[in-house]
Amino acid sequence: ERSKLNRLKDTRATTLDGENVNLLANIEGPKDLNQVKAVNADGVGLYRTEFLFIGRDALPDEEEQYEAYRAVLKSMPGKPVTIRTFDVGADKALNGVGARFEPNPALGLRAIRYSLAEPQMFKTQLRALLRASAHGQLQIMIPMLAHAHEIDQTLTLIEKAKVELRAERVKFDERLAVGGMIEVPAAALALGMFIRRLSFLSIGTNDLIQYTLAIDRSDEAVVHLYDPLHPAVLKLISGTIQAGARFGLPVSVCGEMAGDPVYTLLLLGMGLRNFSMHPGNILEIKQQVLRADVGELAPRVQRILKMDEQSKIREAVLRLAG
Ligand code: PEP
Ligand code: MG
Repeated sequence: ERSKLNRLKDTRATTLDGENVNLLANIEGPKDLNQVKAVNADGVGLYRTEFLFIGRDALPDEEEQYEAYRAVLKSMPGKPVTIRTFDVGADKALNGVGARFEPNPALGLRAIRYSLAEPQMFKTQLRALLRASAHGQLQIMIPMLAHAHEIDQTLTLIEKAKVELRAERVKFDERLAVGGMIEVPAAALALGMFIRRLSFLSIGTNDLIQYTLAIDRSDEAVVHLYDPLHPAVLKLISGTIQAGARFGLPVSVCGEMAGDPVYTLLLLGMGLRNFSMHPGNILEIKQQVLRADVGELAPRVQRILKMDEQSKIREAVLRLAG
């Protein structure tokens, strides 16, 4: 089975009716690049940079970050590389550095909230990202957005970093795109203010499901309630994909849902064309894409989106493959 899948490595992910689909990789650092190349991913859709310092006592300086980001870009010539700014806190807590007690870490100072609370640290990362952008097709992605002012503050810091780099005569990509993650229900329900400010959106289904269903994704006692097919979750995902299409903004899914073949046809039928996942899942998802006819799937998925019984939805989703 594995060797059959391996033959798909250099096949373009195109549906039966000719729709091109991008299959991108989620990575934690340069160590994952061999696996990304082994499956010939269309790019990196999510580089989780917080793994640069999780479990360490000191934050990586600008130089160390720059080297890591550049290494990823160098190995993906001509392909997009989406690098997410630090998503620390909650399930990705820092070791010692700035640790404090939080009664509800998932609802606390994590991701963009943490970065904006530590502007010096954040600007160091933004400078490293800008410098790396001279070496490939880099895009910056902001995690866990809920407010427009979080984007505005980030864009201001990026501008500051650019002014510094210009004064230092350091090269960077002047047109570097900035996008954001839709993983808080509030963001998925108020897309206009994000779409106006960003160049692309990526749906983080892991957190979107956690926050929509009020299920701690790291709590074993409630995992049985964690359901990507809950009608509320599906509405938020499909609404985001549709809004992106309406306003000409690329949308991807980079949560676990994108790498699970159970959901591929559903997501294709919703209009999704960018899937980012663990590189080990790419060929299996490609196999699903190659069998799909999105013209035929779209109306069936529209009917699923009108359903509000989870058991019926699950049956209908499984039938999409039949
Ligand atoms: C997500 O929330 O779906 C996501 C991709 O981000 P992470 O899993 O790193 O929180
Ligand atoms: Mg997330």
